[in-house]
Amino acid sequence: MTIDLARIRADTPGCANVVHLNNCGAALPPRPVLDRVIDHLRLESEIGGYEAADRAHDELVRLYASAARLLNCKPDEIAIVENATRAWDMAFYAFNFKPGDRILTAEAEYASNYIAFLQVSRRTGAIVETVPSDASGQLDVARLAAMIDNRVKLIAVTHVPTNGGLVNPAAAIGRVARAAGVPYLLDACQSFGQMPLDVEAIGCDLLSATGRKFMRGPRGTGLLYVRRAMLDRLEPPFLDLHAARWVARDRYEMVPGARRFENWESNIAAKLGLGTAIDYAFDLGLDAIYGRIRMLAGMLRTGLAAIPGVVVRDIGREQCGIVTFTREGFMPEAIKATLAAQRINVSISTAASTRLDMERRGLARVVRMGVHYYNSGDEIARVCAAIG
Ligand SMILES: *Cc1c(COP(=O)(O)O)cnc(C)c1O
Repeated sequence: MTIDLARIRADTPGCANVVHLNNCGAALPPRPVLDRVIDHLRLESEIGGYEAADRAHDELVRLYASAARLLNCKPDEIAIVENATRAWDMAFYAFNFKPGDRILTAEAEYASNYIAFLQVSRRTGAIVETVPSDASGQLDVARLAAMIDNRVKLIAVTHVPTNGGLVNPAAAIGRVARAAGVPYLLDACQSFGQMPLDVEAIGCDLLSATGRKFMRGPRGTGLLYVRRAMLDRLEPPFLDLHAARWVARDRYEMVPGARRFENWESNIAAKLGLGTAIDYAFDLGLDAIYGRIRMLAGMLRTGLAAIPGVVVRDIGREQCGIVTFTREGFMPEAIKATLAAQRINVSISTAASTRLDMERRGLARVVRMGVHYYNSGDEIARVCAAIG
């Protein structure tokens, strides 16, 4: 399958206004996503929020099937929540760590995850350990295997970090986790919608993702995949009347499946938009999407490398659509502002988002661009010219 660029750009209203390279922040939604959200908000205003949700019932059920089809799991292994952080937290805080338990993570771990590690470590006495990276910059799988012992209670790593093109070897990590019988939580926030994700091929037990980044869904949407076998082992840190039923004065029962990780009140319009976005990506094909993203990211890195003083900062053996750089003598903020004046959207990733990796590499800030399949070769050329 190949992507019909003219059709895709015509289907993306924002393409007429901006060169959008902040897809790792929030992508431009395609028109069907926008329409679905607005239509539902309008219906809520016309007939009432609960009544509108009733009408959308079947479509809301299909959302789980769509997410499951994309990730190669079962619909009842999906929880829909507000964002990737809440999804990840619901999984992580469900573990019952004891003093001396080990949690293994990667160097490019996301700040919110690491803050949770620190909090839980302080509360429980569990120890957080970082698996070193190999010479390419990706998590060193052999070192991970060598670190396994019976005190390792969780492997929690980020697939694609927020601060660059690195793609950690998720499936190889999964093979180590499986062999050791250790639960494996994958933060797939930046890979969801960017590349194919198959939880069986990866071998993860839990996976968190967001709707608004490469998936092109609405803001305020996210999901958690929970392998069925984990349901008996993990109790959600919060339970409400949606996650459980109050069946007697002194007793509740959790609902079946991963929905026990959800909570009651949610943005129904955004959920419907997320379902539309997932189907849109699935119809284009994640292989085709990732192929085009990598092609454009390669063009961008080549163009940047030719500019005097620019250093492309992406690491890892496999590099995805997030492209980062610094330029000697220019502050990232100044570069961002200059590009913004030309209606080119880029972002800045600071050390506070991925502290271990940035400090290791002596970086305070990098300019960050996430290219998407709807970007054109002309746009990439314009961006390189503007930075030059
Ligand atoms: C953006 C991001 C998150 C957080 O996602 P939210 O939807 O904002 O909660 C988590 N992990 C990584 C790697 C991210 O880039």
